[in-house]
Amino acid sequence: MSSPQFREPLIEVKDLYVYFYTYAGVVKAIEDMTFTIYKGEKFCMVGETGCGKSVTSRALANIVPSPGRIVKGKVIYYRDGKPVNILELSEEQLREIRGKEIAYIVQDPSSALDPLYTIGYQIVETMIDHYTVRDQKEGYKRAVELLREVLMPDPEQRIKNYPHELSGGQRQRAVISIGLSNMPRLLIADEPTSSLDVTVQAQLLELLRRLVREHGLTLFLITHDMGVVAEMCDRVAVLYAGNIVELAPVDEIFKNPKHPYTMGLLRAVPNPQADIEKLEPIPGTIPNLIYPPPGCRFHPRCPFARDVCKREKPPLVEVSPGHYVRCWLHAE
Ligand code: SF4
Repeated sequence: MSSPQFREPLIEVKDLYVYFYTYAGVVKAIEDMTFTIYKGEKFCMVGETGCGKSVTSRALANIVPSPGRIVKGKVIYYRDGKPVNILELSEEQLREIRGKEIAYIVQDPSSALDPLYTIGYQIVETMIDHYTVRDQKEGYKRAVELLREVLMPDPEQRIKNYPHELSGGQRQRAVISIGLSNMPRLLIADEPTSSLDVTVQAQLLELLRRLVREHGLTLFLITHDMGVVAEMCDRVAVLYAGNIVELAPVDEIFKNPKHPYTMGLLRAVPNPQADIEKLEPIPGTIPNLIYPPPGCRFHPRCPFARDVCKREKPPLVEVSPGHYVRCWLHAE
């Protein structure tokens, strides 16, 4: 999938299928997923809760949690210019990549930090695990620098603190420090600010933007918030019920959305200038993915659905350079 702005691929996801084998049945969480993240870009994946964003991000490092399984597809990672399929690497090879070349920032910093160890210890251990520093002394010096870089107040003191001694925003800054500690090539941020208040959220998004720019990182940002997409991203993939339904440069998505679900997401974005009454939530809920609707998965909620939509699944087609849509009516 080409991008007019970025040229060199870092990760290519090809024809990915991820299923969860539960007692209730097989949850078809991700199907027919293909996209590329290019070096140096800020790529977003947006959609409602439960649409498969986090599962996709975990598939990139082959860490889909049980009872999930990647049943088909490839995740091609360009390592020193050479393509390797992440899904075919051994655990040992994957350990070299995870945390060092591909790092995660998760939504809930409490779950990412060990309550039994200080912030400093956890940053240093991540670096020692990947041989980024030679010893503890060098590690602690570097950890203070990292905390200073993420604007942690009083980093020499905070490094001695346990997670419960920090505020939510400070804990997330510590998690970002751990993510950055080995200077990864790809930083995956899964709803990194949604558990924080609006002011801290804005500060952390600004921080992420600066770090990506200054260190030349590639960012894969997962969010349910179109406002965050507008502020942060170069390109965006819109996910619905495990399928990418639209993928385009961010300006194009906001100016010229083609898929009814994307249009619905945009109508549900609060506009500070508009009357709150004019917000239009998308009617209905995402389907049960044990029994996904036939044809287009969005058809039970789509105001434009026709007979063909209920029978046949639309393919993802390129409607203009770099703009892909999965809808039978994309030309209308
Ligand atoms: Fe709506 Fe049909 Fe397009 Fe699906 S394919 S989004 S149901 S118009």
